[in-house]
Amino acid sequence: MNTSLYDLTLAELDAMMRAWNQPAFRARQVYRHIYSNYTDTPTAMTDLPLALRERLAAETSMGSLRLTRVQTADDGQTRKALFALPDGAVVETVLMIYPDRSTVCVSTQAGCAMGCVFCATAKLGLLRNLSSGEIVEQVLWASRELRKRPGAAGARLSNIVFMGMGEPFANYERWWSAVERLHDPQGFNLGARGMTVSTVGLAQGIRRLAAESLPINLAISLHAPDDALRSAMMPVNKRYPLAELMDATRFYMMETNRRVSFEYVLMQGQNDSPQQALALAQLLRGFGHGKNAGLPLNLCHVNLIPWNPVPGTPLGRSERQRVLAFQQVLHEQAIPCTVRVERGVEIAAACGQLAGSSTITLNPA
Ligand code: SAH
Repeated sequence: MNTSLYDLTLAELDAMMRAWNQPAFRARQVYRHIYSNYTDTPTAMTDLPLALRERLAAETSMGSLRLTRVQTADDGQTRKALFALPDGAVVETVLMIYPDRSTVCVSTQAGCAMGCVFCATAKLGLLRNLSSGEIVEQVLWASRELRKRPGAAGARLSNIVFMGMGEPFANYERWWSAVERLHDPQGFNLGARGMTVSTVGLAQGIRRLAAESLPINLAISLHAPDDALRSAMMPVNKRYPLAELMDATRFYMMETNRRVSFEYVLMQGQNDSPQQALALAQLLRGFGHGKNAGLPLNLCHVNLIPWNPVPGTPLGRSERQRVLAFQQVLHEQAIPCTVRVERGVEIAAACGQLAGSSTITLNPA
């Protein structure tokens, strides 16, 4: 398959243009088309010489994600894209438009290997890693979508969250290369604070992120206050138990002095009792957990997420009362905490519902 222009750094594009005997400014011109104008075909790069446009069209591609469907909810303010990959896998991306900002939720893998029992993507298993270009492409789709709306000619995406399908830290290099191009002032030019990565808790990825130069935000999927329950819900906990996860998180906080969000999906009767809320507070504070020295609470934020239904699981969403009672305990324990507002539940575009289900048969018998 032809090289995807979305996979190239500016330096790589520059090397290609030089090899094609193009003037020095050419790479930037093409890069600007991709990342500032959101141009999706060389044909539309009309300030390039015709011969170059033709050569780009013949010898490169602009991506491998084929848009198969867009579903909308919340009055068109939530838009889910389904993309087909050449090998048949499906990837989903969700754009959420708010009065004062807009966020795109991006996938980093097709499917996922982590096996969390409450998550729709887990049912697919890992199909494959996405390339950096395939990650970038999703953001550019959202940017075009945003700009298409009436009166939104200059509108720009304000947030990118790597919370779609897959585990970003299991595809670290490609994911990070996408982050760099999305941040690059000559590229997509989004500030690092506008980006958030969510991890299932791969400790070495958390440590690695602490050493990166771009201060993007970190969210950690916690979901349970003790090892027995967390291992039952998230098999990854057997490899990186809570003590190790807390160690890596403390390291991250000490290195960066940045706040970390802890995601906690509430499931009725599983992880949502007041006792479990107290255990969560104690985990973060560091009481009663052996060597766990606790975390600086001013850098902790708990994000409570009502579980979104995934067909074929015996789990249920916590009742509102239980969510509020859980939050109350955390407040009493002085743990900063908010309840996430859901978007796109009815089009299966909410947290943990992305599974390409309209095209892929889950667990074909
Ligand atoms: N692999 C990464 C990012 C993808 S999932 C991670 O685990 O963090 C993004 C968030 O959605 C995670 O916190 C995940 O646990 C949560 N999630 C998964 N299934 C969910 C569901 N059915 N309802 C609500 N949140 C869910």
